[in-house]
Amino acid sequence: MIFKHRTEPTELTILKLLAHRMELSKEDQLNFFNLKKGYEGEKLFDTFLEKLECDVLVLNDLLLSSSNQTFQLDTLLVTNNLVYIFEIKNYFGDFYFKNDRLFQKNDNEVSNPLNQLQRSELLLRQLLHKLGFSIPVQSMVIFINEAFTLYLAPLDKPFILPTQLKTFFQKINSHKSTLDMQHKKMAEKLSSLHMQQHPHQKRPSYNNDQLQTGMSCGACQSLTITIQNKKSICTTCKNEESIDSALIRNANEYSLLFPNEKITLPKIMDWCRIITSKKQLRRVLDNNYQKVSKRRWTYYE
Ligand SMILES: [Zn+2]
Repeated sequence: MIFKHRTEPTELTILKLLAHRMELSKEDQLNFFNLKKGYEGEKLFDTFLEKLECDVLVLNDLLLSSSNQTFQLDTLLVTNNLVYIFEIKNYFGDFYFKNDRLFQKNDNEVSNPLNQLQRSELLLRQLLHKLGFSIPVQSMVIFINEAFTLYLAPLDKPFILPTQLKTFFQKINSHKSTLDMQHKKMAEKLSSLHMQQHPHQKRPSYNNDQLQTGMSCGACQSLTITIQNKKSICTTCKNEESIDSALIRNANEYSLLFPNEKITLPKIMDWCRIITSKKQLRRVLDNNYQKVSKRRWTYYE
């Protein structure tokens, strides 16, 4: 059972929106690519977990803290006698493993996912102990991409290669035991300790003047929207959406990109550009946000 669902990382959502509104720096472009690839890999891994028929609990995307140290878990799986934590890597191409280090075939070193995972495992053990749960923790690195090859793959490391995924899940699925209240309590507790945002979350740097305004498409994020018959239609991907829904989504996007700005009618008019009816926008904002009026100022939150 999926106990905690995965959502798109905020940093990825922000970069996705920005990519259509400004020229991303080389660093942001690389970060965007890696986040996107990583998220795709995690979603692919989720499809395996969703097919499990045995009695387990799945907690995705946990950000926890123990002994004042923050750690992130891609997936945590509770079985009756073991908690698995999975670090999912969507690497593709040829790699080799040598002296506890991971290299691409062209000798370019990438960080060894085991280092991060071992730290997370230790912190999770400490946290569970503190909370009064006694259950072993086992960590695994999942290489999810079919186009990933690992030369000199060590037998003593907890790596699951793409060709081993099916067997690994068959093994978990063959567990006949059932979970009890303690397992459920543990999942609830961990879920309640999840932090929404990393204390040192990075944000790309941009300001209002740099960004191209215009209504974005909900499917492909491009700014190529036309309005026809009370619908917003994307000329790039042909996606259709009601104007109301597109307006509210764009107001939300504005608020995500500019968390310190207040939402006001003129600002969202400027932001969406294409909308000519003030009345329509006011109605949508009135219905979806809390209206705050201070003297002659009105804003929404
Ligand atoms: Zn589109």
